[in-house]
Amino acid sequence: MDNHSKNDSQHWIRQEIRDLSAYHVADASGMIKLDAMENPYVWPDALRQQWASLIEQTDVNRYPDPSCLGLKQQLRQVMNIPEDMEIMLGNGSDEIIQIVAMAMSGTGRSILSVDPGFVMYKMISTFCGLKYIGVPLREEDFSLDLPAILQAMDQYQPAVVFLAYPNNPTGNLFDEQQVIEVIEAAPGLVVIDEAYAPFTDETFMHRLGQYDNLVVMRTVSKMGLAGLRLGFLAGPPDWLNEFEKLRLPYNINTLTQLSAELAMKHHVVLDEQTARIRQQRKVVVSALTQMQGLTIYPSDANFILIRTAAGQAAPIHARLKDKGILIKLLDGSAPMLKDCLRITIGTAEENQKLIASIAACL
Ligand SMILES: *Cc1c(COP(=O)(O)O)cnc(C)c1O
Repeated sequence: MDNHSKNDSQHWIRQEIRDLSAYHVADASGMIKLDAMENPYVWPDALRQQWASLIEQTDVNRYPDPSCLGLKQQLRQVMNIPEDMEIMLGNGSDEIIQIVAMAMSGTGRSILSVDPGFVMYKMISTFCGLKYIGVPLREEDFSLDLPAILQAMDQYQPAVVFLAYPNNPTGNLFDEQQVIEVIEAAPGLVVIDEAYAPFTDETFMHRLGQYDNLVVMRTVSKMGLAGLRLGFLAGPPDWLNEFEKLRLPYNINTLTQLSAELAMKHHVVLDEQTARIRQQRKVVVSALTQMQGLTIYPSDANFILIRTAAGQAAPIHARLKDKGILIKLLDGSAPMLKDCLRITIGTAEENQKLIASIAACL
């Protein structure tokens, strides 16, 4: 028997968990926060009043409605989810990734995505004991390397393929036809993660049902409701009914349900805000494009990826922080993101401060 005490965490916690570092969230108190793809706009007063009075009439002594039928119906309408597709709600789409991974884990099972990609795919694969395969994107434009993906799918037979569309942290949309080829060639499930749907005109939602192995995941976080923690998966009942068994019964709390229902009823408010963000994206891109020594990558999301001159990303990140502006330093997180920064689009005023501060750094 091993020589260890009964409460020895180093003995009992799995090696791959001990090797992880916890997801880091930077302290942003008092700063212009352009690091986490949040919508910078709050609700107008009239809506806040309605919200407050709804909460006033709500009791929290009982468990929440476990079916969330009202909220699902609202989401179905607002997000154009086809009638014959099932919906599962998650406490953020992170929880949905976890449910999918738990349902499909097992000896020799793997999850495949692209690199650089959304970090939670890899972290959650590790939590759930699945092997993670990150197929490198093409370095020049972060497009899919289709032959490499087909080869890796053939070799590893992944249970699930996750593709963020648009991708985080690169901001681009993958070629639609290539994504379809991935769906057609995948041995298992393909999850199209449309977290940034409010900022692009492209979607796979209308393709649900065309492929038995296609599901679409969305979240309300990036459209202005990050604090509520609500995401959903839409897809064929054969898959969704199985995933539903792993969902903890009351994962969507009473306050989230009533707040999200109200927000969906007034979705034009959020639509108007996301339209302003899309407009501001153009402003920021065109200002940064004119600056010497920066490469700006095309974005269909509410953030943009930029590459600085060699060795300049960390100093620019630090100088912006000194000026009270928090952005995301990507240099050091992946070889392909050397000298890269990720900037979330803020309000017009925040963006002007950002542009002036970056100009002063160069
Ligand atoms: C932000 C993000 C999510 C997570 O969203 P939550 O619903 O807030 O958990 C999922 N996928 C991608 C690609 C994201 O960027």
